[in-house]
Amino acid sequence: MIIDCHTHLNNYHDESSEALSTCLDNLQLEMRRNRIDIAIVLTSYKVNPGRPSTRATIHATRGQKHLRIVAGISIATLSAAVLEELREYLREGSIRGLKLYPGYEPYFPGDPALEPVYALAEEFRVPIMIHSGDTFTPAGKLKYAHPLLVDEVAVDHPGVDFIICHLGNPWIRDCMEVVYKNQNVYTDISGLVLGDFSDRFESFMRKQLQEMLAYGVEPDKVLFGTDWPLASMESYLEFIQELGIPERERRKILWENAAKLFGLSPSDSLFATPSSLSKFK
Ligand SMILES: [Zn+2]
Repeated sequence: MIIDCHTHLNNYHDESSEALSTCLDNLQLEMRRNRIDIAIVLTSYKVNPGRPSTRATIHATRGQKHLRIVAGISIATLSAAVLEELREYLREGSIRGLKLYPGYEPYFPGDPALEPVYALAEEFRVPIMIHSGDTFTPAGKLKYAHPLLVDEVAVDHPGVDFIICHLGNPWIRDCMEVVYKNQNVYTDISGLVLGDFSDRFESFMRKQLQEMLAYGVEPDKVLFGTDWPLASMESYLEFIQELGIPERERRKILWENAAKLFGLSPSDSLFATPSSLSKFK
């Protein structure tokens, strides 16, 4: 069982052309090819033809339990109406988490304007994913995207679970400490590469992750995610395969932690059949 906790349906080549259904077909194809059971799709902080809204994404994936949505939030357009819409999606279970993009937008996670977002997460017991580290575009501002900033909101909101995306790359040590110190902070390993890992970078990153686990970050706090379509699922699976960690820990990283955080079950799998599920009982 594998859950990719970090994928997108954005058309990164051309934001002006609509491609939701093509992206969705490609995602399902890649999931089948790589035996990914469930993918969590994160919507963007901006909406344009190439970046479908949360509403459009929910609509396009309705009834497909192997695709779950985490709603991207923009601080620039956050309003009472947006919060009301999010509340409705959370109530009906059509989104399983909320995603913030500090760095892409210039604000700190501790910005008071976000209090209602954290309150929603606490009320509906869904995690908050926070972009952290390098930005895909040079227009991003890195001082807002440092993983150390997640410490403040994690301490101030002990009833909310936080996921630092991308291991806070390149501030992996800082991410490590924030995850280690706070029982409500997790991290995903997505987006470490564009495309495939090169051999050198893969072994460098493998050492970083091994260091993190040796430092005392529990394997319960690390989630498998790719950032597809920016990174390839195939090379990510290879990366995990070559980590050389015990099977029990690998299982936690590959799906158990995500299933717990996002409220997912093996029966949601793309490959679920009544007989395949008996082994999870
Ligand atoms: Zn991403």
